[in-house]
Amino acid sequence: MGGMRTAVIVGAGVVGVTTAEALVERGFQVTVVEAMPRAAEGASMANAAQLCAPFALALGSPGFLNALPRNLLDLSSGVSLSLATAVANVPWSVRFLFECRSARAKANSEALLALAYQSAAALDQLLERHPLEFDRRTSGKLWLAPNVEAFRQAGAELELRHSAGFEVEALSRNECLSVEPRLTDAGYPFAGGIFAPASAVGDCRAFTIGLAERLEKAGVAFRFGTRVDQIEVSDARAVGVRVGEDLVAADIVVLANGLDAPRLAPRFRGRQPIAPLRGYSATLPLGSGAPTVSLTDPKRAVALCRLGNRMRITGSGEFAGPGRPSRQKIKRILDVARRWFPDAADFDATDQQEWCGVRPTTPNSLPMIGPAGPEGLYINAGHGTFGWTLAAGSAERLASML
Ligand SMILES: Cc1cc2nc3c(=O)[nH]c(=O)nc-3n(C[C@H](O)[C@H](O)[C@H](O)COP(=O)(O)OP(=O)(O)OC[C@H]3O[C@@H](n4cnc5c(N)ncnc54)[C@H](O)[C@@H]3O)c2cc1C
Repeated sequence: MGGMRTAVIVGAGVVGVTTAEALVERGFQVTVVEAMPRAAEGASMANAAQLCAPFALALGSPGFLNALPRNLLDLSSGVSLSLATAVANVPWSVRFLFECRSARAKANSEALLALAYQSAAALDQLLERHPLEFDRRTSGKLWLAPNVEAFRQAGAELELRHSAGFEVEALSRNECLSVEPRLTDAGYPFAGGIFAPASAVGDCRAFTIGLAERLEKAGVAFRFGTRVDQIEVSDARAVGVRVGEDLVAADIVVLANGLDAPRLAPRFRGRQPIAPLRGYSATLPLGSGAPTVSLTDPKRAVALCRLGNRMRITGSGEFAGPGRPSRQKIKRILDVARRWFPDAADFDATDQQEWCGVRPTTPNSLPMIGPAGPEGLYINAGHGTFGWTLAAGSAERLASML
């Protein structure tokens, strides 16, 4: 008897849920096992909302390494390092340094851009199958160069983006003002910008929960509040996942549990460690002077965009594990946003939502997608800074291997 092939997916973040969708499309009967009581409670919850494929470049580069000492000393940069995290992630750091070399950085960015390109198309196709509401809007994205040197360096990366098929342009200061007239009031200097007109924004959590609900109606089983302790392997083949005393059996297992994935994956070719890169966000009611395009201030590591009738302000890159949204850190990103656009949001609102999340980051910035050791075990994890942008394409890639 043939019957349907069965799959267990560990994790119901944006990666796990899009993977579930891609497997259902290929005729799998899917169970998703998630430690938290609902979908999108991890990194996918309140991220910067950017669907910004042309900006998906590798974090590790000679430029990043050069600027790191200065950024670590400058409290306004939003870049910091927890000693405990550094000590716990020594193998990660060694590999990261290796990936910062110029040739590696270029190859990693090319691979990331290719996945991002595939992902933009895959998301459009997914939305044709599942028309979801998640405040999606083609906002355009403007990356603001703080000085002439940064502008020149960013301009040098344009070729990489064009080769990947993206429409991106370098804009002079005046051209930036015509793309986003509200920049006239900006409280910080900038020399110009990199603009991607087709970039979009969207609420990752609303998307993930909406898709999970539709999949559940279509027969996908979600086991929330259930933590996977280990993968069950028999005769060198993954046969399911172990949750307490229970075995959830399946023909294939997919690890889509972000930061926790390497713990469950045995050693396999291409395995990378995943380290946490912490960030913060605040979501506030929209103000009367909100910018229309989505903006990134790289000098202070802050991004801001409209999300429906709210303003999402996100920032910081800390080499640190999961934590709480500290008042001081949230205040820093809000102060930056307020100085750029004093009326972008109701900054004194009492009902603002504050969040702290960690980007599950690999040394080369590329997610691991594919076989993960024993037959039947696969991984789709380590999406780092761009997991929302990369999710649909990553799901598609994984599903095409099965
Ligand atoms: C501050 C910040 C801003 C960001 N901004 C952007 C952006 O603008 N654009 C963009 O593209 N990306 C952005 N990202 C990155 C993006 O949010 C992540 O890459 C993406 O959410 C990762 O999705 P995931 O499904 O792999 O991880 P998660 O959403 O963390 O999902 C993993 C799930 O697995 C569950 N889990 C873990 N271990 C187990 C276990 N043993 N058993 C069962 N369940 C388990 C967790 O509870 C969690 O729900 C940002 C991230 C942060 C933190």
